[in-house]
Parts: sequence; structure tokens; C-alpha cells
Amino acid sequence: KKPPTRKGSLIDVSDDLIHQMKGFETIFTVGGDKLKSIVKHFSSELEKGLTKKGGNIPMIPAWVMDKSTGKEQGKYYACDLGGSNLRTVLITLNGDGTFDTTQSKYKIPHGLRTTQNREELFGFIADSLTNFFQEQFPDGVDEGVTIPLGFTFSYPASQTRINEGILQRWTKGFDIPNVEGHDVVPLLQEQLKKRGTPIETCALINDTVGTLMASLYADPETIMGVIFGTGVNGAYFDVVKDIEKLDGVLADDIPGESLMAINCEYGSFDNEHLVLPRTKYDVMIDEQSPRPGQQAFEKMTSGYYLGELLRLALVDLTEQGLIFKDQDITKLQTPYIMDTSYPSRIEEDPFENLEDTDDLFNNDLKIKTTVGERKLIRKLSELIGTRAARLSVCGIAAVCKKRGITSGHVAADGSVFNLYPDFKPRAHQGLRDIYDWTEKDDTKLPISIVPAEDGSGAGAAIIAAVTEKRLAKGLS
Ligand code: BGC
Ligand code: MG
Repeated sequence: KKPPTRKGSLIDVSDDLIHQMKGFETIFTVGGDKLKSIVKHFSSELEKGLTKKGGNIPMIPAWVMDKSTGKEQGKYYACDLGGSNLRTVLITLNGDGTFDTTQSKYKIPHGLRTTQNREELFGFIADSLTNFFQEQFPDGVDEGVTIPLGFTFSYPASQTRINEGILQRWTKGFDIPNVEGHDVVPLLQEQLKKRGTPIETCALINDTVGTLMASLYADPETIMGVIFGTGVNGAYFDVVKDIEKLDGVLADDIPGESLMAINCEYGSFDNEHLVLPRTKYDVMIDEQSPRPGQQAFEKMTSGYYLGELLRLALVDLTEQGLIFKDQDITKLQTPYIMDTSYPSRIEEDPFENLEDTDDLFNNDLKIKTTVGERKLIRKLSELIGTRAARLSVCGIAAVCKKRGITSGHVAADGSVFNLYPDFKPRAHQGLRDIYDWTEKDDTKLPISIVPAEDGSGAGAAIIAAVTEKRLAKGLS
């Protein structure tokens, strides 16, 4: 379809509103120089995270020490606890860089994110795995046989070995007591045991590490695995001797030149609010979240928050009497009622007068909008979406700067990357502005962002496979 025109004057809007809009443009726009200074600070924060003392960015060694060769083979189970779904997968690695998967998806029940009882969460995961196991093995398995599982757990979890994950803190709106500070692997195993399901978690994997490995299996030029989704994060390989916090932790016979995958957890970049250009809406999101002061970078860039940013700005304009005059905005006042599909659908509205947006507000929020108001809402969505894309790539540039990498592919996954309109060109434009590249074709940039292979399915299986190989070499 033809791209909608984005011009046209803001008919039927007041001068005050036009003035306000100019203000939004100023506060939500991040120019090239600002991006460059963010990257500089970001990169030094990544360094700090690798020291024994540590910093704001966790930089968690992921205990994945071998790049995939593409030759791994065998059958593996994987499960992925994501923002809104749980996915279970049976993967066959064919040994030639290709793989086959069979999978099921289970919707995470409403309210589970914030249940007061952690057993409900791990019971739900165990139920889904049990169900999938029964489908795949209707006659069961032989006595004593267990199926190895790669468990993708997309939250910051400390690891002293591959099959451990001590949750540091919940992110993305999850808030379940008695899980932070605990190893989640035995919590899951306990529930599987209760159900008599012979599945053994042999690797706990962050989604970014899975993405990195799955993409390396197919593309040796992969430099990072990144997620632009409900949350944001990235993983890469670093050299063991440069990871100060591993001093005295690794066995002596592991050479300093060995590689270790690092789950950066850079959603927490700038928690001390030194460089990111926060608006008053960003401050509100933080203050009203279950974990104020945490995930500062994620709160400005991830899908969990983009709709909420738009909502807060619209509530503000309404309260100033600039839009939605004399209308009941009870619905709009509900926190998080607008998820990222809102700005996304608004930006995608193909009609000159934004009739899709009209329907959206009418039906979901019971608000009647004028054409002028809708154009303003669209503009605001563009500002929020563009800012998110441009800030997002600062994590990529910071990792490349830290490692001295100047070319390659960044494998990306996540709902924002896959579904948000124009995210990809905007992200590439951000990279162009950071590096002063003049190349116009996104695919020809020295560092380009490419769609990832299935990280939480294939990636988890490949990690299980390379870990087995490493154990066989006696390098545990
Ligand atoms: C989590 C990361 C995860 C990212 C993307 C963040 O909120 O802390 O562990 O990789 O979301 O899913
Ligand atoms: Mg996910």
C-alpha cells in the first residue's frame, strides 16, 4: 500500500496546542551529538560492569564459552517465558546449520505477572511443559530417561554455572515475591517433580544469549544478539582475560583468550540519570513503576512502556484543556491501558484523516477525536517511536566500541523490532548518525541489524548442545 502522507496542517487545533507540539518535538528529539555522548558513557559503563566491584550494568557471564560451529546435532527441549506467552519447543539440530522445530504456545494467565504465590508461576510453566511432553511422548519415556531442557528466562539472573539463575530483580512489570535472590532452576524442577515429568533443566539462558547463539549457528558474522521487545537487552562474546570479575573464578586451565558470552542487562543503563534525555513523562513512568530507579534505559525504549508514554502525554494535554474537551477520559486515565500496539497502529494508519485511529479511540477508549487531534496523536507517536529506535542502538554502538568491532551483523528479535512500523530504518539512521556513515542503503552499512534466528528455541538447544560438548572436553 501507498505510504500515507505525513504532511497536512493541524487543522482545527489551537495555537496553544501547536505551541505544545513544538515543545514535544524539542524534548523527544535526540540528535546525533547527543547519541554520540550517550554511546561514550554507555561504553565506559559496560567496562565498569565487568570489574569485580561492578557498576550499574550487570554484565553477567552467561557460561556459554564456545561459539556454535553450525555442526551441532541432536534433539533438545526448550521453553521460553516471555512477556505475554510461554513457548515450549522441541528442536532437532541437523548438524548443517539448519534445524527443525515443533512448538506450542501458552498464554500467560492474567494476573500471573503479579501473583503473590511464586508456585503459581513455576506450576504454570511445569504444567505447560508436562502437557507438551505428553503430546510429544504419548507413551512416556523409559524409566530413568530424562529430556534435557534449555530454559529461556528473560530477566536478569546471576549465574555461576550454566544451569543456575539467581534472579537479581524482576523487570517488565513482573512482580512476584520470593523469587528475587533465588535460583529459579530448582523452583521449576520442584514443580516438574511434583508432576512426575522427566525433564531436567540443563541450561538457563537469557533470550539475548539464545539469540546470539542461534544466529551464529547460521551466520558467523554475528556480533551481538539483541532484543527490542517488551524489554531491551543485548549479549556478545568477550575475552575471558578482559572480564575482571572472572579472576579466580574460572578453572586455571582455561586460557585467557577463551570467549565467554556476556548477558549485558543494559536495560539498567543510566539508572543514575546522567545522560539520557528524560522527559517529565519518563520520570512519571519510573516513579509509578513497581521498581523505581531501575531499568532507566529500558523504560525509554522498550515495548512495555511506549504506549504508556503516549498515554501520559495525552492525559497531560487533556488536563491542560488542550484536547478531548468535555469528554469522559476515565478509560484513558487507566495506567497501561494503551500497550505498544497503540502507537504502532496509529503510525500505521493509512488514511489521510486517520480513520483507523478514530476507531481505535472511539471503540477502546470511548473518546471522540477531531482530525487535528488525530494528527497530533500520530505526530506524538512518531516522536516516541523514533526516540526509542535511536536510543536503542546506543547499546549496540557501545558494545562495538568496547570490543573494537567495526563491522558485522547484529541479530535482533522482539516485538518492537518485528512489528513496530519504521523501527528498522530509524534504528539504522541512529547508527548512521553515531558513526557519521554516508551509505544510504541500510543493508550495506558496516554494522547492520538483521532479523535473528529463533533464539529461545534453536538458541536454547544449541547452548545445551555446545555445553554438552564442553563438558566432554573436561572444561566445565
Ligand atoms: C530483561 C532481560 C531481557 C530483556 C529482553 C529485560 O527486561 O532484564 O533479561 O533480555 O528484557 O527480553
Ligand atoms: Mg521473548
